Amino acid sequence: MAPSPAPARRPVRPDHEVLIVGAGFSGLCAGIMLRRAGARGGPRDFVIVDAAPSVGGVWRHNTYPGVAVDVPSATYSYSFEPNPGWTRTFAPGAEVRAYAEHCADEYGLRPHLRLNTRVERAVFDEDADVWRVTTDRGELTARFVIGAVGPLDQPKNPDIPGLEDFAGTVLHTARWDHAHDLTGRRVAVIGTGASGLQVVPELAGRAAQLDVYQRTPIWVFPKVDVPIARPVRALFRTFPPAQRLVRLVTAAASEAIMVLGIVHYSKAPFLVRAVEGICRAHLRRQVPDRALRRRLTPRYGFGCKRPSFSNRYFPAFNRPDVELVTDPIERITEHGIVTRDGTERPVDTLVLATGFKVLEIGAMPAFPVVGLGGVELGAWWDEHRYQNYEGLSVPIAPNFWLMNGPYTVTGASWFSIIEAGATHAVRCILEARRRRARRMTVKQGPHDAFTAEMRRRMKGTILAQPSCARSNSYYFDRHGDSPYVRPQSGLHVWRRARTFDLDDYAYRL
Ligand SMILES: Cc1cc2nc3c(=O)[nH]c(=O)nc-3n(C[C@H](O)[C@H](O)[C@H](O)COP(=O)(O)OP(=O)(O)OC[C@H]3O[C@@H](n4cnc5c(N)ncnc54)[C@H](O)[C@@H]3O)c2cc1C
Repeated sequence: MAPSPAPARRPVRPDHEVLIVGAGFSGLCAGIMLRRAGARGGPRDFVIVDAAPSVGGVWRHNTYPGVAVDVPSATYSYSFEPNPGWTRTFAPGAEVRAYAEHCADEYGLRPHLRLNTRVERAVFDEDADVWRVTTDRGELTARFVIGAVGPLDQPKNPDIPGLEDFAGTVLHTARWDHAHDLTGRRVAVIGTGASGLQVVPELAGRAAQLDVYQRTPIWVFPKVDVPIARPVRALFRTFPPAQRLVRLVTAAASEAIMVLGIVHYSKAPFLVRAVEGICRAHLRRQVPDRALRRRLTPRYGFGCKRPSFSNRYFPAFNRPDVELVTDPIERITEHGIVTRDGTERPVDTLVLATGFKVLEIGAMPAFPVVGLGGVELGAWWDEHRYQNYEGLSVPIAPNFWLMNGPYTVTGASWFSIIEAGATHAVRCILEARRRRARRMTVKQGPHDAFTAEMRRRMKGTILAQPSCARSNSYYFDRHGDSPYVRPQSGLHVWRRARTFDLDDYAYRL
């Protein structure tokens, strides 16, 4: 399609052609793909800014005891950069963080990094077709912006009266203070999601008393978490196809559970029932007390909320010094927690395993993004419901892609989503350069068609089941929509990233 003629506009030479916000695995991937494109005549001038002092994103921020991947390690890496060094089938967080550092070095990203730089606001200058990005270190301008701030970045505190009056120590799992010794203390953990499940077994036995406050139980799958023997690691290093095969098998299994169980739930609900059966049998094997088991059993379908793997979580509740508290919390006092039945349990250290702000203004996107007509993206989504062409772009924000925004999560691991998102954004930037366009904007038609398809498909997923209403899941927003998940297979998303029609965007010189 021929670019439409542009009115006379002020030419501005931006500081950078591309600005990537976030140096987690998404931002690093976008950087790697830009570097590769740069070697073939694409843009070389890009920066990756991150508020943190080092790369790694969630793996830099989440260092609580027990933090580890909850998908098989073999699938948790870039497809083009396998890590033969994982020491366990489910790698600990420190290894994932080291892998991020390795990728930054290996792919020559260090000169592009601007760390300790927080983006506060991005405004599209419609006269100049550049983004004016305000950071806590001054303003930067860029032709294109890739938002790579993951959705699990901003820790969320529970909305419980009295939290601010608590006189002991408060730790959020996403901002752990390793100088604080929990040994011999009375510890309360609030939250039993994916992080709570990992931290509880680590604290049990170390704390004098551990009270675990559960609002919603989690589905827990048995975990085949074993060390990867040195000879196997050596084999992966010297004969990479062996590791690729393991990745293929584990990815196919994870993708099958995600796609058949969640995305195509209505076609084969028995599969989800079978997975729930495995989880129930796991709980039965690990917890002899029937009443306790009942309280640990979810009353919503598997997949309404992030499930996890563990062999150590349930047994923690068999200990005499660990109590599962399911009576709702009424308030927090200076020295403890009061539940609705009037009981006050004393607490020295309060651990908030309460997750992240996800589908809400201020978190999605993580900073104000002001697009065409001065419209702010977060407010626009809040009013008009989340919508996002191919999970990446919207008609009100030209030259902007938000990786891991609404309608993205699917497939075997985040790396498949991340690589698809970066592929899409970099293809767009290369096309804009090829057409010598200064502005590209997704057209309303393809955007609306994608949104309609997502909403239609969502009706067949597990997330449309009534039982999800009991799950307190961050997959849902205030409208009751579940735009966290993209109801398509990871394979489909991979293919779309490479084949979507570049004419779905409008270009302006
Ligand atoms: C504890 C935990 C365990 C997980 N385990 C798994 C797993 O096992 N498998 C799986 O597939 N996924 C897992 N995830 C999901 C995980 O979020 C993704 O796998 C992936 O790491 C996301 O990478 P990202 O780069 O998109 O986002 P992030 O890792 O969140 O990186 C975003 C970066 O943006 C920076 N940033 C934020 N705001 C600003 C700003 N305003 N200005 C500048 N910089 C900013 C942050 O400092 C951060 O470095 C887990 C998440 C958590 C929290």
